[in-house]
Amino acid sequence: MAGLSLKNINKIYDNNVQAVFDCNVEIDDGEFVVLVGPSGCGKSTTLRMIAGLEDITSGQLIIGDKDMTQVAPKDRDIAMVFQNYALYAHLTVYHNMAFSLVLRHEKPEVIHEKVMYAARVLELESQLNKKPKELSGGQRQRVAVGRAIVRDPKVFLFDEPLSNLDAKLRSSMRRELKLLHMQLGTTIVYVTHDQTEALTLADKIVCMSDGRIQQIGKPIELYDNPNNLFVASFIGLPPMNFFDVKVDGDKLVSNDLEYKLNDAEKTLLANYQGKDIVLGVRPEDVNIGDEFKFKVLINENLGMNTLVHGYIGKKKVVSKINEWCEYKLGDEISVTFDRNKVHFFDKETTNAIR
Ligand code: ADP
Repeated sequence: MAGLSLKNINKIYDNNVQAVFDCNVEIDDGEFVVLVGPSGCGKSTTLRMIAGLEDITSGQLIIGDKDMTQVAPKDRDIAMVFQNYALYAHLTVYHNMAFSLVLRHEKPEVIHEKVMYAARVLELESQLNKKPKELSGGQRQRVAVGRAIVRDPKVFLFDEPLSNLDAKLRSSMRRELKLLHMQLGTTIVYVTHDQTEALTLADKIVCMSDGRIQQIGKPIELYDNPNNLFVASFIGLPPMNFFDVKVDGDKLVSNDLEYKLNDAEKTLLANYQGKDIVLGVRPEDVNIGDEFKFKVLINENLGMNTLVHGYIGKKKVVSKINEWCEYKLGDEISVTFDRNKVHFFDKETTNAIR
């Protein structure tokens, strides 16, 4: 096991596309770190640089206490699990898992012990004689993970490992991966574009956009205190509602709403008098109340709660209410925002105002 340290890492591809800008991340030994962001933000490039599959244009990669920046992939003591599993169709589950150890000329008894250990951890013992095509998607994914486990690496890298699975399987595999991490305790760096995977799996999230890290922190930190508009809109589902407003004396005004500031908010926004800012509020913090008129468009029942989509003024807003509601198109209700959960952002820099 080992921690990782990415120091001032940049990646410029041969065609002069800069995919990663000055990436600095500290990953503790045994930590589960998720790199998350939309397609093209540079997360796979970052992972592939850790694996050694891409050169690091500048900067430094430390694994454990060794500088691995120039070290060949096979000598980094890392195992990577890909999105498409890359299993050998003609080999059994057992031999798929044993493959890398055979290449390494391990002793047969060592190979057997490691494969059986992985099979036990992944509950694949009854599948060992099957070929990949006889397995379900989830089982195939577990074999792919098994191939990584037998190598007993210092670090596991996962590149969107669940994105080929259907929604139900994805959520059960998510739990399996979390349990696996608890059992093995190995450092994991995991890439996904799915914010739910990031929130549910990570000890630490690294949220990226356009090749740059936007925020690093525990899931709750990114959720409760997003650094900027990008993180605020990317983390959380349904996404945060945003209003473009102007600070006008003791209120925020826009064409859609007038928001009375309390004393704490007035202090926070003292330097923004007359300026344009963005007010953000998560759907779960738009509650039934008496502050803003809300015209219902669609009522979506999810069982334990209801997503009510509608308008405040002409602005589309989503409210998540913790009970079964039966609103209809055109219903007029009143809502209020949870004052402890409202976010403000500088319109110019997009940074959170704190
Ligand atoms: P993500 O994994 O977040 O979807 P990538 O790391 O794959 O993003 O890509 C980041 C950027 O680098 C994108 O603009 C992509 O087009 C570019 N890129 C990725 N691989 C290459 C490559 N081999 N050559 C040139 N540009 C690349």
